[in-house]
Amino acid sequence: MDGRDKGFEMKTLHGTIEERSPDFILVKADETNIKSIERLTIPFSKEKVYIMTTQKDLPVPPVYRKVWIDESQGHRENIESIMNTLALDFEFKTWEYNPKYWESDDEFIKTKKAPFINIGNGCDRGCGFCEISNTPVKLNDVHSVIDEIDYLLSQKKRTFFHIQNHNIFNRLLFLEQLCNEIQKRRFNTPFAWSCYLAPESFESVENKEVLFRKLANTNLKQVFLGVEHVNQDILNQYHIDFDKSSLISNIKTMLDIGIESVVINYIIGSPRESAESMSELIDFSKQLLEETRGAVEFNVNYYTDKSHVNYLQKGVCNNDTDFLTKYQIMNYKKELYSLLLKEMNTRVANWSTEERYNHVVINELGLKTQYWFYNLSRTAFYKMYRATKHNHAKYQFQIEGADNFLNYSPYVFVLFECEGNQKYISIDPRLNHQHISKLYLNEDDFFLLEIAKRFLPLGEIVKLLSERGYDYDEALKKALTFYGSLESLGLLVYYKAL
Ligand code: SF4
Repeated sequence: MDGRDKGFEMKTLHGTIEERSPDFILVKADETNIKSIERLTIPFSKEKVYIMTTQKDLPVPPVYRKVWIDESQGHRENIESIMNTLALDFEFKTWEYNPKYWESDDEFIKTKKAPFINIGNGCDRGCGFCEISNTPVKLNDVHSVIDEIDYLLSQKKRTFFHIQNHNIFNRLLFLEQLCNEIQKRRFNTPFAWSCYLAPESFESVENKEVLFRKLANTNLKQVFLGVEHVNQDILNQYHIDFDKSSLISNIKTMLDIGIESVVINYIIGSPRESAESMSELIDFSKQLLEETRGAVEFNVNYYTDKSHVNYLQKGVCNNDTDFLTKYQIMNYKKELYSLLLKEMNTRVANWSTEERYNHVVINELGLKTQYWFYNLSRTAFYKMYRATKHNHAKYQFQIEGADNFLNYSPYVFVLFECEGNQKYISIDPRLNHQHISKLYLNEDDFFLLEIAKRFLPLGEIVKLLSERGYDYDEALKKALTFYGSLESLGLLVYYKAL
């Protein structure tokens, strides 16, 4: 039972106990959930409930017994120790990799839209905040990986997966073989994949463009880039070293050759994090967003110490850094996301319908981009897929064929206000380049705002606007510009009744 993040869903818990009649229950715990465990009511003898934790000194309610996971030991030693505590006989079987191992995990894979293909174990990057760092790397045979892809595509009907092994770029031979084999196998099902790369590993590649192109040709659509930070002191603490001057141009090359999504991973809030180091990171992010026209995305995570309890991520951090409080760190995270959102809004507002549709397709493959979450999941395309559930093939022609955007109705979430005779709408200054909080409306804007409350299709609205003395194209341009600006501020979506 792992109730760390979501709390305990009592109905499921009781149902599982009833259905499986277990001999024991192990509850994974740390100091963030121990209080809810105390209040736990389960139809089960409390003596047979064990609290399993990596925190040796965690105070555990006396009715329960504690099982300590000693992280200086391996899995095997810990499992042996748990089995001994529970007085259970067991035979420790070494797990052998098999491309069809998903067979035994059928229930699990049903819940995963984008399964992880684990191509091996270990990582030699040595990040100072990571439990896996500096463990021996052992990669599976490329042909087995290809068989696994084949199995997932043909038997499990998956169309997207993530190759799970950090720092794969340090294994160029493996990467090249993987690309060659994917192309040789000529899979019938279209699929996309994503992987994690470390920026310093590009530096050993002579012709990066050739390699990136090779990856893009095998439908690598998303790259998670472990930048982690840009302040040299902090990078030194993380034991990471890369050439910052070439980072942006490498990212641009990836985007230019068609890798759709480059997600920059940051880790903030380590003990030496300061206002200066955060400013450096924010300045770098601004430059990156400007030079890539907002095409990158960010994943900002909080630093975890070696106890691996991410206090700040859960909002219960007890420790500030040496220079900043936890609230300051949280605000810096918000600032980074506001920067990102602002650039994304501008970019999405300028996308054509086709470009939006491309992202919808990518999402259907399982690639959840931040563009998707922030902007596109609220558009008409997504509503169509959701509204039609299992039979969306029936409606698919409407998207793939000559779907006419003019049949969609704009729907606004904002009311106008007045300053004397001047009408305006209030907007979030963090989400626009001018940092303004009021968008003043001219007569046409006001007309478009008000008529959008009547659920008319865009085509009809444009006709009505043209009756105010514009030709049709001019009216269309005015409508799209105004509605585009509202959409990019999260104040408008397009709908179409099915
Ligand atoms: S690259 Fe990933 S797995 Fe490897 S040490 Fe760093 S965080 Fe850990």
